[in-house]
Amino acid sequence: MIILMKKNVTQTQIDQVTEWITSVGYKPHLSQGVERTLIGAIGDDRGKIHLKAAAFLPGVEKVVPILKPYKLASREFKESDTVIEVGHCRIGGGGFTVIAGPCSIESEEQMMESGYVAKKAGAQILRGGAFKPRTSPYSFQGMEEEGLRLLKKVGEKTGMPVVTEVMNTVDVDLVEAYSDILQIGARNVQNFALLKKVGHSKKPVLLKRGLMTTIEELLMSAEYILSEGNDQIILCERGIRTFETATRNTLDISAVPVLKELTHLPVIIDPSHAAGHAKYVLPLTRAAVAVGADGVIVEVHPEPEKAFSDGPQSLRPEQLYRLMDEVAVLKKAMEEIGGLP
Ligand code: PEP
Ligand code: MN
Repeated sequence: MIILMKKNVTQTQIDQVTEWITSVGYKPHLSQGVERTLIGAIGDDRGKIHLKAAAFLPGVEKVVPILKPYKLASREFKESDTVIEVGHCRIGGGGFTVIAGPCSIESEEQMMESGYVAKKAGAQILRGGAFKPRTSPYSFQGMEEEGLRLLKKVGEKTGMPVVTEVMNTVDVDLVEAYSDILQIGARNVQNFALLKKVGHSKKPVLLKRGLMTTIEELLMSAEYILSEGNDQIILCERGIRTFETATRNTLDISAVPVLKELTHLPVIIDPSHAAGHAKYVLPLTRAAVAVGADGVIVEVHPEPEKAFSDGPQSLRPEQLYRLMDEVAVLKKAMEEIGGLP
């Protein structure tokens, strides 16, 4: 349920409404727009009838039920695009953010070199996995805390914010201490305990769509994080599982305009995990710009043939440089034709 306040609402009236929401067993969620204040009432459906009575409180314009199963994530709740600020960089709101780095952090030398390449290319955010979700227990599982330390070190050295995955509730505090953005990987998109836990974090969350997750389910997962109080979420389409085997997954490019319609949260594309082959990363990145995504996350490795994980889909440094050049050209072209907001 959303409570839309009148234009000239006073703080006392806002306080009265939030108190009412709390008194009937719901959690108030304030959203102060340029023109209007919206107050979301978060909770299950049982006390709906009491909430409706808020329409009679002073300063209230109307009480609007949100029919979608996700509320705070919906465009109905927040019309304007959410823009996430990390360091000097902004994700969402019309820009195009490139996040680049290796799949796994492997050594100081490899991470330093990757950071240098990402920086030289002009990528805004550095990625690197320290806790790796691997299909086989015999595959490299990541350097864990030592990897996090290296990632932070390279982030500081290059002046780039860093993003890394957290797979487990017990590791959230640790990962948060080293990372600027917490990544929830495809396999954990419906790990509700983990979603709730990062919902309490002050750090933005990069939430990847699962292999078998519908768009609505992805938004429900985002809602778990939002309903715990963290509204800094970046959604990521990283390919879904289909009958097609030519690529590792199938990039659902239409997820971008669909999500843009349904939610105010920024949406990026991961062409590396979608394609599984480095040679398709550039064409899919071109598509990401054209479709109106807010950015991409790509894997790059100084020597992909030696990578501990995801080597075949990792760009070589020169491929990343070319990708960045093309992004700049395509982004400009999109602005010229008025194809972007
Ligand atoms: C990753 O980013 O390295 C990763 C494991 O991604 P996903 O969760 O999309 O498979
Ligand atoms: Mn990977």
